[in-house]
Amino acid sequence: MVSRFALRIDPVASDDRRDSFADTFRPIDPHAPALPVGELSAQRGDGIFESLGVVDGHPQEVGPHLERLAHSAGLCDLPAPNIPQWREAIARVVQKAGTGESVVKLIYSRGVEGGDAATAWITLADAPDNARARTEGVRISTLDRGYALDVPARAPWLLLGAKTLSYATNMAAIREAKRRGADDAVFVSSDGYVLEAPTASVVLRLGDRFVTPAPSAGILHGTTQLSLFAYLEERGFDTAYDMIAVSDLGGADAAWLLSSVRLAAPISAVDGWPIPVDRALSDELNAYLLTPRE
Ligand code: PLP
Repeated sequence: MVSRFALRIDPVASDDRRDSFADTFRPIDPHAPALPVGELSAQRGDGIFESLGVVDGHPQEVGPHLERLAHSAGLCDLPAPNIPQWREAIARVVQKAGTGESVVKLIYSRGVEGGDAATAWITLADAPDNARARTEGVRISTLDRGYALDVPARAPWLLLGAKTLSYATNMAAIREAKRRGADDAVFVSSDGYVLEAPTASVVLRLGDRFVTPAPSAGILHGTTQLSLFAYLEERGFDTAYDMIAVSDLGGADAAWLLSSVRLAAPISAVDGWPIPVDRALSDELNAYLLTPRE
């Protein structure tokens, strides 16, 4: 994804309530070097991020993404982000978005080694073409994440549940899934429960009930899953957070990977075994996810 527009943000205190944050933003050339070599985001992946979908210039789910940014900042002991400042930055970059789908990325880093200020920037890029994943689906390989469901509570310093910049293991999992002949991975706990995909939440349909693993399992609380559950509830379906055994995945009536940019990608096979793709429902869910949402 090549960024088309970028703004540097000078983060201000979370309780700063000025009328405009315009003088804290500076356009930067997205194709030119912009970070000092001592930047901890680059050296240690020490920072957090969010990726928002943008449809015809409208940023989707801004509130839930900023809430999760603040949650991740809390888990990582970063200064609380100023939410109105980030909102204004998002509003400013999406002015440069054309029609169709784009991606806005918010990055909030611990800053330069030895310094005392966080670093922040925001980018706008064209979204990749996800039509095929949304219609034909994705084959997934289940991969052991190597720890049990109680680890997030026992070892909070692992930052499970924070959207940190340290995605090297997530990317390694996708490469391993591809080596196994799949398109994407689904992490499972060492005690046999479904967790999440490296860049998406997992939702299963079991009859008229839709279930997803609880965020207490050390996974991200997906903004797309949250929004989709609200839609499904309006449609009269039951939704629930639950412990999902790996065997439930292969036996589901349908299942999806959900994320802000790819949206709802039906799962078409689990470890080489086909599972049903509900094309009509997937189309309906993606149509909903492409409507402007706050
Ligand atoms: N889980 C992980 C690990 C992710 O990286 C993502 C999105 O990037 C998600 C879940 C889905 O979150 P959202 O729906 O907010 O994009």
